[in-house]
Amino acid sequence: TTHAPFTNEPFLDFSISEDKQRMEEALAVIESDLGQTYNLVLGGRTIATTSQVVSTNPARPSQVIGIHAKAEAKHVDLAVASAQAAFDSWSRVPMSERADFLVLAAAHIRSHQFEFCAWLTYEVGKNWAEADADVGETIDFLEFYALEARRLDAARPPIQLPGERNRLRYVPLGVGAVIPPWNFPLAIMAGMTAASIVTGNTVVLKPSPDAPTIAAKFVALLEEIGLPAGVVNLCVGGPEFGSALVEHPQVRFIAFTGSKAVGLQIHERAAKTQPGQHFIKRTILELGGKDGIIVDADCDLDLAVEGVAVSAFGFSGQKCSACSRVIVDQSIYNVFCDRLAERVAKIESGDPAKNFYGGPVINEVAHKRVLNYLSVAETEGRILTGGNAINTPEGGYFIAPTVVADVAPNARLALEEIFGPVLAVIKSKDFDDALAIANNTEYGLTGAIYTSSREKLDRASEEFQVGNLYLNRKCTGAMVGAHPFGGFNMSGTDSKAGGPDYLLLFTQAKSIAEKV
Ligand code: GLU
Repeated sequence: TTHAPFTNEPFLDFSISEDKQRMEEALAVIESDLGQTYNLVLGGRTIATTSQVVSTNPARPSQVIGIHAKAEAKHVDLAVASAQAAFDSWSRVPMSERADFLVLAAAHIRSHQFEFCAWLTYEVGKNWAEADADVGETIDFLEFYALEARRLDAARPPIQLPGERNRLRYVPLGVGAVIPPWNFPLAIMAGMTAASIVTGNTVVLKPSPDAPTIAAKFVALLEEIGLPAGVVNLCVGGPEFGSALVEHPQVRFIAFTGSKAVGLQIHERAAKTQPGQHFIKRTILELGGKDGIIVDADCDLDLAVEGVAVSAFGFSGQKCSACSRVIVDQSIYNVFCDRLAERVAKIESGDPAKNFYGGPVINEVAHKRVLNYLSVAETEGRILTGGNAINTPEGGYFIAPTVVADVAPNARLALEEIFGPVLAVIKSKDFDDALAIANNTEYGLTGAIYTSSREKLDRASEEFQVGNLYLNRKCTGAMVGAHPFGGFNMSGTDSKAGGPDYLLLFTQAKSIAEKV
């Protein structure tokens, strides 16, 4: 069979009254579904537990999104056994049949697009366009990995030795732990899961306790389309369960997206061989960022101001790709600061369900952490706009979009990932200085440069040390297929989700030589 070439799912347009109306309807429908109870799903059976994870709306924390059975360390053996039992048959299902499940899942999500958007709005506080981008990326990951799997399966044979038939086959690894983040709780969760299973592995999925309901909806969808029981096992749980899962001697690989601190712990735990373990575990890690945008003296200032504002404050800066440092040439520094502050001050914050651009941060801990950085900002720079929490009657975790000027390249605000709506502005002496400041970080995820100079664009392409570099455009919103996504250094293992090499990470290659 032939398959259509990949194209990205188009974005919705909420300025069109039909899309707007359908989103409002979906928000109303899903609102009546909030607060239900969800169980663990192990080998197709649901299991209730005594302790629970309660997911709430960050814009109105008294609103319960879902009540979830909580997996404890004692559930790990059963979870891994369920995945292991399913592995025996699932690993033998032909790649193309496994790919068909991804295509089905994508179609199903597309036909419930607005409902999935609404869940994202309620559970993590995404405005409509951010929710739509997450849902669209989910469809893209599913369809892209389905095509990639077929391509891998049909890969060109190796060199044929005279007198032999030589083959190279990509076979699954085994049981994987998939540990996604809350900030792209549909796209990254589904993407890491899809890559795992399409290549023949089975999965214990431990979603973020901040976004378990989205994951439960996805797992229910997989059941609905007939994915065999035990291929994906859902275990909402905390760090104890996560650690025990990573350490389990039968867990062959761990796909994780989240903070540097947790990622490094996982890497270390996975490196320690457990009694009864007979393989070397693999980790696929997507961690944090301290992403910089260089604004050069000879750039289009309108374009730069807009690109920086969107990169820094989209989803309230809660993307590992978000711009958190802007490095501005001294000759345009003052005018850029004025223009940026004016633009950012216009951002209106409020309930994401009502589609305000500025939303809440994810939870109380994050709110405290970001507020703490705002007091650091008072000593490390000059706050141009924002700098405060926004109090709402519902007690949502809102922080005003904040721009801090005159930050030194080695200040905490210039080096530490904040993961909130706080942007540091740093002055550079010249282009060499700007590049040096941009590279002065342990991270290396995204970066951008605004300049009209071809020479500077070329130099940035060579010297700016990031996994995803953008020239004269924002540094967020990587598109599946076009911008394989993953960072250098402490930003992770550069695994390039949505790229042509990604599925290989979930396989091992078997060389077969037959004498003929
Ligand atoms: N892929 C997303 C982007 O390009 C960021 C993913 C993340 O924050 O983990 O904006």
